[in-house]
Formats: sequence, C-alpha cells, structure tokens
Amino acid sequence: MNLKISALEYVQQVQNGNISAEDFISKTLEQINKVDEKLHAFLSINDDAVNQARAIDKKIKSGDKVGSCFGMPISIKDNMCIKGSKTTCGSKMLENFVAPYDATVISKLKQQDAIFIGKVNLDEFAMGLTTEFSAFGPSKNPWNPEYVPGGSSGGSAVSVSAFECLMSLGSDTGGSVRNPASFCSVVGYKPTYGLISRYGLISYANSIEQIGPLTRTVKDTAFMLNMISGLDPNDNTTINVKNGDYLSDIDSGIEGKKIGIIKEMMAEGTDPAVLSATNDAIAKLESLGAICEEISIDMVKYSVAAYYTITATEAGSNLARYDNIRYGYDFPVEGYEFNSYISKARKNFGPEVIRRMIIGGFVPSAGHAGKYFLKAMKVKSKLTKEIDEAFKKFDFLIAPTVPILPFKLGEKINDPVALFLIDINTVTANLTGKPAISIPFSISNGLPIGIQLFADSNNDKSLLQAAYALEQTVKLPEVPI
Ligand code: GLN
Repeated sequence: MNLKISALEYVQQVQNGNISAEDFISKTLEQINKVDEKLHAFLSINDDAVNQARAIDKKIKSGDKVGSCFGMPISIKDNMCIKGSKTTCGSKMLENFVAPYDATVISKLKQQDAIFIGKVNLDEFAMGLTTEFSAFGPSKNPWNPEYVPGGSSGGSAVSVSAFECLMSLGSDTGGSVRNPASFCSVVGYKPTYGLISRYGLISYANSIEQIGPLTRTVKDTAFMLNMISGLDPNDNTTINVKNGDYLSDIDSGIEGKKIGIIKEMMAEGTDPAVLSATNDAIAKLESLGAICEEISIDMVKYSVAAYYTITATEAGSNLARYDNIRYGYDFPVEGYEFNSYISKARKNFGPEVIRRMIIGGFVPSAGHAGKYFLKAMKVKSKLTKEIDEAFKKFDFLIAPTVPILPFKLGEKINDPVALFLIDINTVTANLTGKPAISIPFSISNGLPIGIQLFADSNNDKSLLQAAYALEQTVKLPEVPI
C-alpha cells in the first residue's frame, strides 16, 4: 500500500474500494513506528485508531452515510483539545492535562469521519520556530534529521512530510504553520483572521492567531478548509464567508492577475538560494500570465518588534491561568503561602515562555506602555493601512516564506533575537489579519524552500487558486526518508 498519496487521492481510492481505512491506518501506524523514533513528530498516539477505522469500513460496506474523510489519518498540534486526550502544549505545566471537551475543528472533523492518529509536537505554548522549545524534546527535519523542522507546528509539518498522516492542523500566530511547512516542504495555510474557529485552541495571542492546515497539496488545503471553516457561536471572532467551497474552480489560473513583490521581505540577510528561488517563482507566475511588480511596504521593518511586543502582552495574560489551581502540573497546597505556591508552580515553564512572560509583564506596564505596547499597536495599524493600500493595486503579494534555509538543531537556540528575526516575512499576515500560504517550491543542498503568497481578507478562495497555479509548475524530489 502506498502512503505517499494526497488526502483527496485517499478519498478516491477508498471510494473505489481499492483500499480500506483499516489497512491505511495500520500502515500509517507502521510508518510512525518506523520513522518517529528518529523524527519525534508525535507526543501521543491514538491507540484506538484501528478500531475506529474498522468501524468506518463497516459503515462504508453497509452503505451508510460516511463523512468526507473516510477514516483518513490526521495529526493535531498538541495545543488543540480532543476530549479525553492529553493536550500538553509541549509544556511540563500541562503534561498530564486531559481535555474535557473537543475544539470546534475537532468536532467538525469527527463529523467527517476523520481519525486523529495522534497529537504532534510544538514549541512550548507555540512560542518559537524550531520545536526546540518543546519540553519533550525537538522534532527533526525529515529532509535531514540534523536540521530543525521549523515551528512552532514542527510536529505537524514533520508528520505530513514523513507520511505519518495525510494532513495536519497547526496554529499560526506569527508564522507557525507556514514556517515549518516551508522547512519541511509541505503546504501551510494561515487563513483570514476569523475564518476558522479558535474554540478549543489553547490561546497564545488571540487577537492575531488562527488554526491552519498543513497538507501535501494545495487542493488538500482547500478540502480541509471546506470542512473546518465557518461561523462558530463559541468563537465570536469567526466570520461568515459566502462562497465557501474552496475546491471548486481551484484551477482558474492567474492570467492577468497582479502580484506585488514585497521589497522589504527580500532585503539584506535573505539567503541567496532563497532569493533565487523566489525570482524563479516570480518568473513562473509571469509565464502563466500574471503581472509582477515590486512594492515597498515600509512598516515591515518594524513588524517583528511590534509582533513580539503585542504577542508577549497577550501571552502574559493568557499564561496567568496556569496557577496550578485551575490548571497545572499539580502538587498539594499544604505548607505553602499563596505566592510561594504559585511561583513554585510557574517554575515549570520553560525558558522561552518565561522570557515572553517577563517581556509581556513589562511592555504594557504603567510608565512603559506608551513607549512599547502603544507604539507596537500603531505599527500594527500603519502596517495594515499599507497592506490595504497594496491590495487596491494588487491581487496578491509574494515573498519567500522564510528568509533563510533550515539550520542545524542547536545552532540558534541561545540567540533569541536571531530567532525572532526569522519571522520577518510571516508576521505581517497575522498583524494585518490577511490570509497567506506557503507552497513548497525548491530544494537547495537537500533543504526545502517555500514561497509565500498573500491575499486580501476574505480572498482565501482566490489565494488558493493562485497557489494551485504555482504548485502546478513545481516538481520536487521525494523526501529522503
Ligand atoms: N515564532 C513566532 C513566535 O514565537 C511564531 C509562533 C507562532 O506562530 N505560534 O511567537
């Protein structure tokens, strides 16, 4: 049996009777057994998966109505709640936390007969971009296990890339879906803010983050969006988008579309291999009839500083709930006075989370807010204005997803500012609420490079059409695992 197929190919093969859900799930579990010791994508495995697959096969055989996933294996970043399963957020703080309810994305996928094959690794509370800040050890890049897979949804990207599932869900606050997608050569999608419910996603910076799919193909991303997007009474930031079928007309092409090349995202510090891949992508888009032209978005220069100021502030208040009383790793209160109890509990956070909490306590505080937090909010609104202006002229914007190639594990772990700066090309979509996608585009010295396309809010459908057009021009070698 071939695990190296797309989610939509799987659906077709099950419908044709060529494969059964049980066989596919069993093979997938074998693959996880074979490769995950080395790659460490998974934090936990669903030990009921084979039984669930058998039940779905039974439904198919007896002609009952079956959901559009037909029992396909999907991995879930371990910051989304699946009722009755551990949801650790990659943190010692939640090591034994069992979710009491399903996230909206999970209940929607359950209705479609998806099988959650396991929960996958992430930087602690989704803070980071290498998975090295997971309390349970880093994931490794399937293209070369000495290299980081990107993050924070590193486990999601690795599991899709290494054929340990067919699709995955990650979360993207500042690039955490697109960055690992780029580093592992899979498709990663950050939707328009509000397109997908965040109910049951453990919050990092609510005002800008979104759940997003990681898949092998652009069509699979469209398929996933069809299943999980939409209004949710449990998340008041969700939006109602008409024309919600993302798969139909996906092959409309990009002839005559105008694409802006963001100058500040191809500036000094961009790896030459990344630059040349981006120029190749632009040439390919032009050969398909798109009109590409450079544009300057000045506020991109300040976007990383604004992003970390805003997200640390929101993280500071979101993380306050881990007081070991409502949530936490648990030890008795006897013998402690209140403050020493909480402070002992909070020592269980890792170094990156503590760094964010310290920043998040300082930047919005009285006497400093004007200099930091309010300034960051001004950058956010100016950046949004500039991007809105750009979309009056252009249908899409283009840039490399990440300015550099994947780097070695351990190489940058002690240089937080260097890590922050790698987010330069991804945070703009979050700060402005716009949709953006990373498409696998090239391999340089055995390491993947992704290209990023952006569209205006609520233009997710046309963004997928453009991404699909670009994807059709690409033929990449197979991942060497
Ligand atoms: N690297 C960014 C951060 O650490 C992005 C994280 C994310 O998107 N969750 O905040």
